[in-house]
Parts: sequence; C-alpha cells; structure tokens
Amino acid sequence: MKSNQFVVIGLGRFGSSLARELIQLGYEVLGVDKDEESVQEMSQVLTHAVIADATDEEVLRSLGVRNFDCGVIAIGDDIQASILTTILLKDLGVKQVVAKAMTELHGRVLEKIGVDRVIYPERDMGIRVAHQLVSPNLLDY
Ligand code: ATP
Repeated sequence: MKSNQFVVIGLGRFGSSLARELIQLGYEVLGVDKDEESVQEMSQVLTHAVIADATDEEVLRSLGVRNFDCGVIAIGDDIQASILTTILLKDLGVKQVVAKAMTELHGRVLEKIGVDRVIYPERDMGIRVAHQLVSPNLLDY
C-alpha cells in the first residue's frame, strides 16, 4: 500500500531524518514530539509540527491521526511510550503503523501488538552498509 500522508511521532535523529526525506519526496508530514526544541527545529520543514505527548489518546484524536495513511513511531528509549503510542495509532485506525525498536525484545512486543513493520535503525543500517561495501554499484540496497 502506498501512503500519501504521514504522521511521524518522535523527532529525534531518526524521526527527523525520516520526516525530512518524506517532505523532500513530496509527501505531507505531521511531526509530533513532546520536546519543544525538537518541534521548533522542524516547524519550518514539515507540513505541521506539534508539541504533544503521543501517549495521550485525546491529543492523538484531536490531531486527527486516524486520517493518516501511515504512522511512524520513532520513539526508542522510552519503550512504554513506544508501545502505548503504537496501540493508540492502531486503535484509532491508522492504516499502516511502523515503529522503531531499540532491541529485539522491544521489536517482538511491537509485533505482538500488531505493528505492521518494525525498524531496527542501527541493525538495518549495518546490514545495508555491509552490502554497499562489497557491491559498491549497489546504490539502493
Ligand atoms: P534518535 O536516536 O532518533 O535521536 P533518541 O534515542 O535520541 O532518538 P528517543 O528516546 O528514541 O531518543 O526519542 C526520540 C524522540 O521521541 C525524542 O525527541 C523524544 O522527545 C520523543 N518522545 C519520547 N517520548 C515521547 C512521547 N510520549 N510523545 C512524544 N514524543 C516523545
């Protein structure tokens, strides 16, 4: 399924990089972070950027997240916040929910609660770079 509108929750290094790239590719992105500074930094880049605690169901409802095709949860360190936000996005009806996991166990929990895709940024990037090192022509692995 191809998504057109994305909500990215957590604008740390991973979330902000992903959100910026989606904008570059021409998609609409709502960014959410509880940290004012992170939101401030991205407010000129994204379609909308909002300071909010993503574990608050009412906040997610009022932001209309159910209308987004894809939600990316880019919260890693706070596993509880990652899990709660994942469940809320699924229950609110976001069609595709993707979440970052810091550990394999965190990823297993996310899968059990119905996440559509788990991303392990460091692990996945290590694999990607290894492939690029042995096949330099393989630009897009
Ligand atoms: P990265 O490696 O992507 O920089 P990080 O390890 O520095 O991430 P994380 O703990 O993964 O930091 O959090 C990423 C972002 O998610 C932070 O900007 C943080 O403020 C935000 N965040 C954490 N919990 C919540 C929450 N409940 N609601 C909204 N944003 C949150």
